Parts: sequence; structure tokens; C-alpha cells
Amino acid sequence: MDTIVAATRNRHKIEEIEKILKEFDMSIVSRDDAGVPDVEIVEDGETFEENSYKKAYEIMKLSGRPSVADDSGLCVDYLGGAPGVMSARFTPSGDDEENNRKVLELLEGVPFGDRTARYVAVITLVYPDGRTVSARGECEGHIIEEERGTNGFGYDPMFQPAGYDRTFGELSPEIKNRISHRAKALVKLREKLLEDDK
Ligand code: IMP
Repeated sequence: MDTIVAATRNRHKIEEIEKILKEFDMSIVSRDDAGVPDVEIVEDGETFEENSYKKAYEIMKLSGRPSVADDSGLCVDYLGGAPGVMSARFTPSGDDEENNRKVLELLEGVPFGDRTARYVAVITLVYPDGRTVSARGECEGHIIEEERGTNGFGYDPMFQPAGYDRTFGELSPEIKNRISHRAKALVKLREKLLEDDK
């Protein structure tokens, strides 16, 4: 069985990725458990693809083993795609509450129809021989005018996915995990791995 090193330390993300990789006889181990030195990987790419690849590649180099990374964020059309790759650092503190307040302030007075947004996730698997498998998932929705609900994290309380009248902060984790950007990226990753297996 191949062991894949996860570039993320987020348990929740590791578990989601783990479920898919298991099917392909791959197990996942966190970078800390794999003994990867605690170096910071600077996410200075202009796209989710670049950052996702950079994280997976650097962890692969440091561990000498296949590695997987996820890069994700929120893109708001009215803000020209911001916060985008800057989602985690949209304000100096990077605090969820402050990030959310900033988005709501920037959208003040903007009608619902112009508050379209999408979550994006790119998951990349890099092997020591250079082989790379990457998949992107998107979840369309709107930014509503206030925060609602306490489920999820980050921008979830103000993100209302298309087809629902509740935010990710209000919807159950089961629903979010079915329709989220990360879920969609994982479905695509699975398809690509199945293709490779043929
Ligand atoms: P990453 O860890 O560099 O991929 O940064 C992802 C950032 O995007 C998070 O810190 C959140 O601000 C935002 N984000 C990504 N996915 C989600 C989600 O599912 N819900 C809420 N915020 C998210």
C-alpha cells in the first residue's frame, strides 16, 4: 500500500482525502507523523493550482514520498474574484470574523443578484517520479448580507450555495460534504485516478 503524505495539518481535510485514496489502496499520513521538518511553505502563487502544486511538491521533496495538497478559497465576482488565493489572509489578522466583516463591508449595498460567488478547491497529488494528478472543484452560490449559522468554518456563515435558502453555516455537514468544492474536487480526483489505473 502506498502511503501519501498530506501537506495540510487540517484533520478534517485529511479525513476527506483519506476516504477517496483508500479506494486506490493508498493510505494517508500527516506531514508531522511522516517526520517532515516544520518548514513554512509560502503560498505565493497566483492560482489555486500553483499553490496546491507547490505545497504537494515541497512536501514530496522533504519526505521523499508521494504527497497530496489542497488549496482552496472563496471568489466573489463583484470583487473581481477576491479574496481568491488570499482567502486565509484577507485581513492582517487572518481571523475568520474579520475576513467575513471585510467581505460584507465591500459588498454593502450590492443587490443579491450581483453577490454571486464560488468556493474553489484544487487537490494535487505529486509522486517522487514527477507524476502529478490534479483536480479542481467549484461550488457556486451567493454572499448574503449577514452571517447566519455556526456550522463549518471561514466564510461559511455568509455563503449560500445555489439551490439552497440556507448558508453553509446553517446547513448540516452532511449536505456541505456532498456539494462542496472539496467534495467535487475529490470526485474528479477519483475519476482521474481510475483513468490512470486502467
Ligand atoms: P488554504 O488552507 O490555504 O487552502 O486556505 C483556505 C481558506 O479559504 C480558508 O482559510 C478559508 O478562509 C477559505 N475556505 C476554503 N474552503 C472553505 C470552506 O469550505 N468554508 C469556508 N471557508 C473556506
